[in-house]
Amino acid sequence: MLSLLKQKFLRKLESFITLLGRIIEVILTGSSDYKFVFQPFEAFEKVDNPIQAKLLFKEVKEFLENKFSIRLKEPVVIELFSPTSLSWEAGLYQFSGLMGRYRPCSLKTNNTHLIYVLKGLSREKFKGVLVHELSHAYQREVGMLKNEKILKEGMARWLEYKLLINLGALREAHKLTGVKSWLYGGGIRKMLDLEDEVGEERVIPYLKSLL
Ligand SMILES: [Zn+2]
Repeated sequence: MLSLLKQKFLRKLESFITLLGRIIEVILTGSSDYKFVFQPFEAFEKVDNPIQAKLLFKEVKEFLENKFSIRLKEPVVIELFSPTSLSWEAGLYQFSGLMGRYRPCSLKTNNTHLIYVLKGLSREKFKGVLVHELSHAYQREVGMLKNEKILKEGMARWLEYKLLINLGALREAHKLTGVKSWLYGGGIRKMLDLEDEVGEERVIPYLKSLL
């Protein structure tokens, strides 16, 4: 019912914008066959092109800035990779439940964060992987947790968890806390304990104080 109303509203809006566009074009050129059609932007389910990636990156960036004051100064480049182009190493990453990876890239004094995310993930999964890899980019940029392998991974997982909860993807979120691996599972449990102890908003400042 609601989506039917939405469809109706969009069609009306389309013809209104079309009319407006035609009037302007007729005034300017004397004739017009302008037609405005809404692109079903919001409807995409799988992230498989750079424009979708960019749109979601903006949302993830805002989440990190607004909720955790995490701001990256250096530019971020997101690359989607397809399962067929996996190296054995990337294949291993995928096996361990990670579908992205982070690589710093330095050229003289210019640093760029390169983030690889598997092509074709759902919006939630894509955002989760992106927030995870952006955490690693931030850790590198501010030079935090250099000798804390477990906490380093834990922080990325915890932010991924926080984002998924925020999106209402509870099942995906709880999958993260149930991981049995020492590095991946141990890290996030340590972080959840830390959150209980100091409160959500003090978690990142506390980790930064461990410099
Ligand atoms: Zn990681």
